[in-house]
Amino acid sequence: MAIAAPEQLNISEVPTWGSRGVDCFEKLEQIGEGTYGQVYMAREIKTGEIVALKKIRMDNEREGFPITAIREIKILKKLHHENVIKLKEIVTSPGPEKDEQGPLDGNKYRGGIYMVFEYMDHDLTGLADRPGMRFSVAQIKCYMRQLLTGLHYCHVNQVLHRDIKGSNLLIDNEGNLKLADFGLARSFSSDHNANLTNRVITLWYRPPELLLGTTKYGPAVDMWSVGCIFAELLHGKPIFPGKDEPEQLNKIFELCGPPNEDIWPGVSKIPWYNNLKPSKPMKRRLREVYRHFDRHALDLLDKMLTLDPSQRISAKDALDAEYFWTDPLPCDPKRFKSLNPFCVILYSKAVILFWVMKKSFLN
Ligand code: AMP
Repeated sequence: MAIAAPEQLNISEVPTWGSRGVDCFEKLEQIGEGTYGQVYMAREIKTGEIVALKKIRMDNEREGFPITAIREIKILKKLHHENVIKLKEIVTSPGPEKDEQGPLDGNKYRGGIYMVFEYMDHDLTGLADRPGMRFSVAQIKCYMRQLLTGLHYCHVNQVLHRDIKGSNLLIDNEGNLKLADFGLARSFSSDHNANLTNRVITLWYRPPELLLGTTKYGPAVDMWSVGCIFAELLHGKPIFPGKDEPEQLNKIFELCGPPNEDIWPGVSKIPWYNNLKPSKPMKRRLREVYRHFDRHALDLLDKMLTLDPSQRISAKDALDAEYFWTDPLPCDPKRFKSLNPFCVILYSKAVILFWVMKKSFLN
């Protein structure tokens, strides 16, 4: 992992950032394992507020501070939106902690640095995987609208997320959805002329242009991932669960058809096109495979899972899609109490009890 010189960190830009110690918080339990370390649920001792503490792992860094963490901090400091996770502050611990392993060295950040986030109760994958959990159409629209609103905000601010997937979409018990984990995010320029890292985005959500080896890309890469999430919410499971890059591309081509110069001008110039283009004839089958989906949902999905990134729908245009403006309308997160899995279970039990009682009464 790349590192940065200490002066690049600049965590003191905002006076309070980095000046408080982690001992202002009481760690309650570990809730996750991120790219650079553990994530804890914690309580701020002074206010009682529950937060998420994300520890920045230093054991792989011989000196300096991980550049990915600097990117995440810099990007999150400039993003302020209700659908983007809020980075509240950075806190430090002065020396090695009880849970810290490995020899001490010259790294001045060895003690431990934590990012303090607002706490969110669930992530979309965890929620969708709960037994008996089935989202209503209004709930799916509500999540999709929030996802697109947050992403549109990032794209307008020239930030690519580059790791949109269910486990990075955090949800609270009120139904508010926020984009999280900006560890792979980066700023982009609108001309898309810069060469960017090709190996980004978790395989199942990675778009065909990246799988074919392009290094020039823009916001459309995130929109492909959004299409995969949308299909997953409607279908009930991931739609492109590839084991490796060639299998991933094959799964995409089987559903979305083969790429060629007619539907995707310029595709033959992408580095690995000649090696990875499909060897057998195929056709686009998306509308046939998902013909049981609602018409407006299918129209939108078709536009998101468009092979040519320049023709793929943007977050802004997706928000204008008929899908979001036809019944049932997206539900209001403020009236989303039914999302709470506990309420869903209680409600299902009440319905079953009602039927059992009705049946025994009729007998
Ligand atoms: P990340 O490195 O941001 O992907 O975090 C790893 C895991 O920690 C996530 O998949 C979540 O389960 C959990 N997590 C991260 N941030 C938060 C948060 N703000 N609130 C609650 N859980 C979180």
